[in-house]
Amino acid sequence: MKIDVRTVGLFEENCYLVVDESTSRSVLVDPGDDGHRILDMVGASGSILEAIWLTHAHLDHIGAINDVRRVYPVPVYLHPMDLPFYEHLSAKAAEMYGLPWDQPVVTPLPLSDGDRVTCGIVDFTVMHVPGHAPGHVSFNGPGLSLSGDLLFQGSIGRTDLPLSDPYAMDASLARIVTLPEDIIIYPGHGPTTTIGAERRANPFLSGRARVVKR
Ligand SMILES: [Zn+2]
Ligand SMILES: [Zn+2]
Repeated sequence: MKIDVRTVGLFEENCYLVVDESTSRSVLVDPGDDGHRILDMVGASGSILEAIWLTHAHLDHIGAINDVRRVYPVPVYLHPMDLPFYEHLSAKAAEMYGLPWDQPVVTPLPLSDGDRVTCGIVDFTVMHVPGHAPGHVSFNGPGLSLSGDLLFQGSIGRTDLPLSDPYAMDASLARIVTLPEDIIIYPGHGPTTTIGAERRANPFLSGRARVVKR
C-alpha cells in the first residue's frame, strides 16, 4: 500500500490518495480544494479510483468533490451525523470566509462505527470519533490511521466550532490513543506522526496517556 498527499487550499488541508499496489485500486480521502492538483495526483498514480472517503464534512475537506467526480464518478462515504455540514453549513462557512464554493451534488453513502471499508484488497475499519465534528471518523488500516482533524502533531482538532463537542472529543482522543504506538497518523493538517510520539509529547494527551498505561 502506498499513500500520496497533496496539501490543498487556504486551510492547508491534506488530501490523501491511498493506493493498493497489488490491485492498482485507490481511494481519495478528503478532497478539500485545488481539484486539478488532486486529479494530477490520481492520474500520476496510474490507479483506478474506487471511492472518496470523508473523515468529516467541514468545507476544507469536501470542496473538490465535484471536480474529482466530474472525471471519476465514484461514490462518496460520510458518517450521517456530518450531513448538516455537507448539505449546508460548509456552504455557509465558505460564504462567511468570502470563498468561492462548489456545493457537492452527490448524496453520500453512510458510514458507521465498526464498518469495514476496502481499498483494493486492503481493509480499513471505520472508527466514529466525534468532537471536532459530530460525524467525524478515522479510517484505521494496516499500520496507519487516516484520522482527519482528530489528532495532529502536538495538537488536536478545534472544539469551538458549530456542532463541536469538547466532551465527545475527550472520549474520542482517549479511544484513538489505545491504538498501537507504532501506528502512523495521517492527519487532516500538518505532518504525519505516530500514536507513540503523540502519547509522549502531545500536551493535549499527556493525562490520557497515563490513564491508558494504568
Ligand atoms: Zn475540520
Ligand atoms: Zn480541516
